[in-house]
Amino acid sequence: MIENVAIAPVAGPEVGSGYIRIDGDRITELGAGPAPDVPGAGRIDGTGCLATPGLVNTHHHLYQWASQGLAQDATLFEWLVALYQVWAAMDAEVVKGAASAGLGWLALSGCTTSSDHHYIFPKGRGDLFAAGIEAAREIGIRFHPARGSMDRGESQGGLPPDSVVEELDDILAATAEAVDAYHDPSFSSMLRVVVAPCSPFSASAELMTESAALARAKGVRLHTHLAETLDEDEHCLAQFGLRPVDYMEKLGWLGPDVWFAHTVHLSDADIGKLAATGTGSAHCPSSNGRLGAGIARVSEMLRHGANVGLGVDGSASSELTPLAGEMRQTLLFQRARYGPDALTARQALELATLGGARNLGRENEIGTLEPGKLADVALWRVDGPFTAAVADPVCALVFGPPPPLARVLVGGRIVVEDGELKTVSQDAAGRAGVEAGRRLLRLAEERGVHAVKEVHHG
Ligand SMILES: [Zn+2]
Repeated sequence: MIENVAIAPVAGPEVGSGYIRIDGDRITELGAGPAPDVPGAGRIDGTGCLATPGLVNTHHHLYQWASQGLAQDATLFEWLVALYQVWAAMDAEVVKGAASAGLGWLALSGCTTSSDHHYIFPKGRGDLFAAGIEAAREIGIRFHPARGSMDRGESQGGLPPDSVVEELDDILAATAEAVDAYHDPSFSSMLRVVVAPCSPFSASAELMTESAALARAKGVRLHTHLAETLDEDEHCLAQFGLRPVDYMEKLGWLGPDVWFAHTVHLSDADIGKLAATGTGSAHCPSSNGRLGAGIARVSEMLRHGANVGLGVDGSASSELTPLAGEMRQTLLFQRARYGPDALTARQALELATLGGARNLGRENEIGTLEPGKLADVALWRVDGPFTAAVADPVCALVFGPPPPLARVLVGGRIVVEDGELKTVSQDAAGRAGVEAGRRLLRLAEERGVHAVKEVHHG
């Protein structure tokens, strides 16, 4: 029983002071006023805290924790070309350490569910997909790993070097295997697998259509990068004669089981197509800002009924971005572009929770605080000596830097308490991330790729 707590449930009325009752992994009751007397119930005093649904991260590349701070001033395509060769050196140990730190960092900014888009699988480097899953299980976060892929190397007109792409048949077999081995469709699922060719400029049309067929046969979701930069627009027009959204439409890639990362450069017609087909978007404002990609038309997408969730994107293009901070970044970008009524604090919170849950197809299970839903809850401490100066707790959460977390619960289990990870050693998770970075650069050096020297000047 969480009691004496302000509640912003995202669905239904906000509560100034009330309670949330949790039984097993579900919320059973929630209301205003003093908590009911339940003999034997454990109690969490939420005095001074704001309870929100746990935040949902819908775009990430966890392995990139190991390559932060490189190619700092590059465009997306320059940055990718600089980093593909570094990433080609990764192994399962790098991925495990990077994912431990990356997921720990997410939990420490109120995230209870995260996707992860992993799309580079160098041969003979261990089971990279399993390494991320192992880290998520240890941290205790709900995980939607996407089996990514690239088959369109330079020789096929793609952007990545041929050395980092895979063969179509190998990709489809490994992807099917990943779904069969790990996907859990149950209500309480801690792990659902997604099928995710990397992008139009690194995946062939055949890989896109075959991946869609595979995902639909298996009943899992589809994800890819789309319309991130103007370079991509030009690439798609030159290579396919179509802009990105039209190309996806042609490949059968619009639908309620699809969500795209970024969707920065959309026409009015593109927005209409996303809305009409129920296709979602993961808005990653810090990464878009960091790479100078542009500002997505989020408030217009929402007005036209297109679903938008948030994502931090890979740490190599957003460094230490906390998921909670993306609410603020989204609100400020939208207001800077469209004016003060472009987005409210409550809408920003909804994007980070329910919008993300919809992207993952889990709006019945997570994304709001309601009886019957999973007990994924973030308790933000908004009564600190400085934070308490803000009259409205939701405003304090969204407009300011993320406040400290009193608790993060995933399915009723405490993952964060008083700003510290409880499921794993926080120091060990952080150190694993540092070690992963050192190891990756060393493995890259052994292959003749001098990462730091080569990618610091873009
Ligand atoms: Zn990405």
